[in-house]
Amino acid sequence: MSTVALITGAASGIGAAVARRLSAGGARCVLVDLDGEGAERVAKETGGVALAGDVSTEEANREAVELAERRFGRLDVVHLNAGVTGGVDLDAFDAARYRTAVGVNMDGVVFGVVAALPLLRRSGGGAIVVTSSLAGLVGYDGDPIYTMTKHAVVGLVRALAVPLAADGVRVSAVCPGFTDTPLVAGARETFLNAGFPLLTAEDVAAAVESAFYADPGTLLIVQPGRQPVPYRYAGV
Ligand code: NAD
Repeated sequence: MSTVALITGAASGIGAAVARRLSAGGARCVLVDLDGEGAERVAKETGGVALAGDVSTEEANREAVELAERRFGRLDVVHLNAGVTGGVDLDAFDAARYRTAVGVNMDGVVFGVVAALPLLRRSGGGAIVVTSSLAGLVGYDGDPIYTMTKHAVVGLVRALAVPLAADGVRVSAVCPGFTDTPLVAGARETFLNAGFPLLTAEDVAAAVESAFYADPGTLLIVQPGRQPVPYRYAGV
């Protein structure tokens, strides 16, 4: 029986690379994105099914899980990956942009976990991987609001690791450094001119796949030219 995967933010960058990687391994994927046409393109390419939806709403997350159940009858792995930058200059604070960052990066993960858990349990267990960031482990002064949201989901993963493991659901996070995707397109040249190496979306997708099998609570640091390594912290 092939794996059934649900991936958010799957129209582009890391999420699309995960869809390609998992489908190449035989998985059947439900691909959710605000960009419905982009999700549809990746679905055609990977043999998956697409859903246009805003992950900052409970409804989109519920619909995505219902689609997995209707089309494939089960759910094994969930990649909660959709994300946006905060881009917040505190001296020119944009409350709408702040709310969007919190909505996508934090609410989107909470609503995704809540929606997916019942079907994961009914499917006999599985895994949830959240895309956090290195900015979820250290303060990134280039984007404080993004840093806050990425720390928040690390906290959720830590807190849920033990209770969800009791249901056979492993929850973990990947924490990539800068990755060459449309999200950082504006800063790409600056990085490259400074000789700053970028990850590829495929590098991160490989780490996401390994995180599905990692111990609950693992926070997998992903950096260019190195094997992904679990972040070590004191206590739980
Ligand atoms: P990306 O912009 O290529 O992809 C993000 C996708 O999320 C897009 O397809 C976008 O349409 C979708 N999305 C945005 N808001 C949404 C919403 N409300 N509902 C549904 N989908 C929505 O960027 P990426 O780099 O692939 O980002 C994926 C994840 O990786 C994000 O969580 C990001 O924070 C994280 N991340 C990125 C980097 C990096 O340097 N690119 C580093 C660390 C972590």
